[in-house]
Amino acid sequence: MTVFFAETALTTDGWADAVRIDADATGAITAVTPGADPNAVLAEGGSRLRGVVIPGVPNLHSHAFQRAMAGAGEKRSPQGQDSFWTWREAMYRHALAISPDQAEAVAAQLYAECLEWGFTSIAEFHYLHHQPDGTPYAEPAEMGLRMLAAARRTGIGMTMLPSLYAFGGIFGKAPHAGQRRFLNDLDGFFTILDRLIAETTDDPRCAIGVAPHSLRAVSPEMLSAFHAMGTPIHIHAAEQEREVAECIAATGARPVEWLLRHAPLDRRWCLIHCTHMTPEETRELAASGAVVGLCPSTEASLGDGIFPLPGYRAAGGRFGIGTDSHVGTSPRDELRGLETSQRLALHQRAVATDDDHPHPGRVMLDAAWAAGAQASGRPLGRIAPGARCDLVELDPDHPALIGHAGDALLDAWIFSGQGNPVRTVVVGGKRVVEAGRHTGALEITEGFSRAMRQLA
Ligand code: ZN
Repeated sequence: MTVFFAETALTTDGWADAVRIDADATGAITAVTPGADPNAVLAEGGSRLRGVVIPGVPNLHSHAFQRAMAGAGEKRSPQGQDSFWTWREAMYRHALAISPDQAEAVAAQLYAECLEWGFTSIAEFHYLHHQPDGTPYAEPAEMGLRMLAAARRTGIGMTMLPSLYAFGGIFGKAPHAGQRRFLNDLDGFFTILDRLIAETTDDPRCAIGVAPHSLRAVSPEMLSAFHAMGTPIHIHAAEQEREVAECIAATGARPVEWLLRHAPLDRRWCLIHCTHMTPEETRELAASGAVVGLCPSTEASLGDGIFPLPGYRAAGGRFGIGTDSHVGTSPRDELRGLETSQRLALHQRAVATDDDHPHPGRVMLDAAWAAGAQASGRPLGRIAPGARCDLVELDPDHPALIGHAGDALLDAWIFSGQGNPVRTVVVGGKRVVEAGRHTGALEITEGFSRAMRQLA
């Protein structure tokens, strides 16, 4: 059993002081008791968190290998007219080069960075499966197992989402040569999935889901193989206008519209991006109970567009955040980008609020906690019995936060400053970040540096 004493904590009953948090050996919270005696906790061998303790934030969309090309895909291409599609060519070249050892080292660096910024779990949308020539490794799940190894090494919780990628364009187009490490038929995909399930059975730090990559990469028949599954189902949808146009040309429907008509969208589903939706799609998707996974720093980096947040929120839509290509690795950057992009487009402020919820930082964190848990298929995002003991301690004396309390402190965290006020991070009852640094940072960054020098 592990015990923590938090000076102030955001519990499911609201802000509370002097909070005792008990966790069991599996890393789950068993009791939350406000008004507790710190000396009793310390006498039991517990540890004290002197700052403001909030639930760890779930990161619901990652392609970890892309951390190695963050900042490297910015140069203008010779032909000009740079876009998502020219970036994708650079990403393919990068994906063809990385080895299992390098991918694991890069993922460990990414996950340690995410932890230092307050993400405590990651949904790894994993499509880089095979050897550089496209043939499977002797262990077909080699690359996915490396992602799991990196998660276990850093202590971050994981929802592993092996991705099915079978085609190069909407409904059956031949693959691009740069996609050869991603490709599987259904049998190959299920071999990898079964191996990852076997590896994580009875591990409360991990869950498994599935990720049909996009309507560009699977057929309707393949997608229907997932309909009966009880796990999270993640899919990219409507990120780019060209993707929408190709989907209309091939099917007569827009991507989200097609999914609404042909897939049983419900609470299991997480649609990544959904940047380009009509008002009708926006309302119907919100009503389906599915989550939208927003990745504002990547969406801005790739020139995707701006998500229709006001209409989606007004219809009760659920949304969480991810870091996707990892040009950003913090909840703060994602949530700041989400709100400020709306401000730029709409010429308004406090867009992610309503009469009853006036603090945009709090509103967006509440959404990210609840929808992140749903899309991760794990009990995350709340300080309450039964949830994972994933805690983030913010330093209230950090220059970005000083003078703020409660929901206003969350606004200050999201909207001010560049420093990092995250001091301690606990995952599954274990302290993995102390004084703002991951406890294994030195060794992890050495491995990352080695991998990056080799890749360069
Ligand atoms: Zn993605």
